[in-house]
Amino acid sequence: MILDGAKIANDIRSEVAAEVKAMAAAGSRPGLAVVLVGHVPASEIYVRGKVKASAEVGLYSEQHTPPESVTTDELLALVADLNRRDEIDGILVQLPLPAHVDAKKVLMAVDPAKDVDGFHPVNVGLLSTQRPGLVPCTPAGVMEILRRSNILVSGQEAVVVGRSDIVGKPAAMLLINANATVTVCHSKTRDLPAACRRADILVAAIGRAGMITHDFVKPGATVIDIGMNRVTDPAEFQRLFAGNAKREEMFRSKGSTLVGDVHPGVAEVAGALTPVPGGVGPLTIAMLMSNTLKAAKMRRSSRAPELSWS
Ligand code: NDP
Repeated sequence: MILDGAKIANDIRSEVAAEVKAMAAAGSRPGLAVVLVGHVPASEIYVRGKVKASAEVGLYSEQHTPPESVTTDELLALVADLNRRDEIDGILVQLPLPAHVDAKKVLMAVDPAKDVDGFHPVNVGLLSTQRPGLVPCTPAGVMEILRRSNILVSGQEAVVVGRSDIVGKPAAMLLINANATVTVCHSKTRDLPAACRRADILVAAIGRAGMITHDFVKPGATVIDIGMNRVTDPAEFQRLFAGNAKREEMFRSKGSTLVGDVHPGVAEVAGALTPVPGGVGPLTIAMLMSNTLKAAKMRRSSRAPELSWS
């Protein structure tokens, strides 16, 4: 079964749009501010997608584009202003920030109640103690794929490969909270294939094109591929896609192709699999929209005292 992330993302966006419409009609449209520093082409593409999606679901959105030369203090002042403004419910500081900026200090300055990326330690703590808070978009999207595809999580063996603060760890935490038995693997794990073969649900968040091959996968397992890697080397392309005419055509014309951390051959053993592109990727923006709505609702509700930090 191919898990159609694009369809699930569209469903979520429609649901968010309906709620945003009702809130806007009642005079309290949720608002998102995106901060994009300098000119990093990939960041510009991501931010364009986020701003476009915001307009499509009816959010108020604004973009701040300080120059590459911006100082940490200037960014802190911008974040403080966004924290103060009541019409802004979500603040997203697009990473990476320039090397001379203290990125941790800037991210720590975002009001946790408006931290729609879910990176602030307050939100990390809320997630790990199963309290309502804002959850990082990509791992939250993984859980939506599982839930909306009726894949059983409770009691299942889940293995997450990758332990980054923004993907692997929160994915593991969400799976624990959903009652899976979770193993987290990383670059120091001994016998990674054996650890992965225990998984009923295998989540790959590594950043290595096609590293998870069929011998890592228990037949019938659900495989969630978070990786997004651009392949430009023809030999590497052959290892991954030899015989795939459609991809070969695309690779020839564009000189590159997008591939996950899971080798396409895994489709032959997995019970269910997210494709790349069109799997987890579309969920990330959909969950950003959903998080902005959630932040707006929580900020307007008196039921979230632990989020009233500002
Ligand atoms: P990081 O580089 O921060 O983390 C990678 C993790 O993989 C680390 O924990 C690392 O282990 C582990 N790892 C690396 N090599 C190996 C190996 N050979 N064996 C076992 N584990 C290994 O990456 P991110 O978490 O930020 O991103 C992971 C992937 O997800 C990337 O491809 C990224 O592009 C993609 N991504 C996709 C998104 C989407 O919207 N679909 C959003 C965000 C990310 P160690 O800790 O020991 O170094």
